[in-house]
Amino acid sequence: MPITPTQFIWMDGAMVPWDQANVHVLTHGLHYGYGVFEGVRAYQTPKGNAIFRLRDHTQRLLDSCKILMIDVPFTLDQLMEAQLEVVRVNDVPEGCYIRPLVYLGYGEMGLNPLPVPVRVAVACWPWGAYLGDHSKGARMKISSWQRHDPNAMPTQAKGTGMYLNSGLAKMEAIRAGYDEAIMLGPDGRISEASAENLFVVKNGVIRTPASSAAGALAGITQDSVIEIARDLGYEVRFETLVRTDLYLADEVFLTGTAAELAPVASVDDRVVGDGTPGPITTALQSIYLQAVKGALPAYEKWLTYCS
Ligand code: PMP
Repeated sequence: MPITPTQFIWMDGAMVPWDQANVHVLTHGLHYGYGVFEGVRAYQTPKGNAIFRLRDHTQRLLDSCKILMIDVPFTLDQLMEAQLEVVRVNDVPEGCYIRPLVYLGYGEMGLNPLPVPVRVAVACWPWGAYLGDHSKGARMKISSWQRHDPNAMPTQAKGTGMYLNSGLAKMEAIRAGYDEAIMLGPDGRISEASAENLFVVKNGVIRTPASSAAGALAGITQDSVIEIARDLGYEVRFETLVRTDLYLADEVFLTGTAAELAPVASVDDRVVGDGTPGPITTALQSIYLQAVKGALPAYEKWLTYCS
């Protein structure tokens, strides 16, 4: 999806005009993929733009840095304020996607990450629903690319280089005529999609693979949707899933900051339910989209208002 430029990007503590937010070609992170990032969204609410689960996303960014032993020269509060400021200074009245990035910069080469200067950037731009129209379901394919083994790549870190794996799976799915890939873990069980967590609904029970078992990222949208589902009285279980659980599910949906809550229409050409978004998916999606836009007081705790 093409990027719609905004006015400013926060780089290492200062606002830089969009077109000048550049790095040297010998930036370490470009060569070895050593960096971490977050995907965050700000939504338009009745009280102006608000960032959804800002503290949780920023904490996960710092957790990713801890896992990769990247020493970030900013505190949690400073990084939260940088994201709020980026939304304030840019012309994004209808909300935006926010991309905080911590990366190893210019000045040292060779594999040892330890002496390399750490750089931080936060950009934002308007970005619609990542998997397209919410009312239609995604056509999914189980990927021939396996999710990382947690002892080969730390799956709880959003490390930049780790997304080669997601990119390969996504590209394979698109080239084969599908919308998105589902990845199996090293044990052959369902892990997650290329950048979303996955849920199945069967006989009214909602199940999703646990990140610890499946090598999936512990999703913040996944966590939000679980809380909403439990508040609605649904039973939600973390459970190991195999591919036939997807083929025989009543409903399947994906969650992620970019994709929000996206229904799945088919998996490996087996139609899920009747191929249209099911009632539980639709109910959860509707509440999630109201919650992020500040329409539900019970979930306002997840919002940080920009002004
Ligand atoms: N899994 C992966 C691999 C992801 O990149 C993402 C997006 N951050 C997710 C799951 C969903 O996580 P979240 O809901 O926190 O955006």
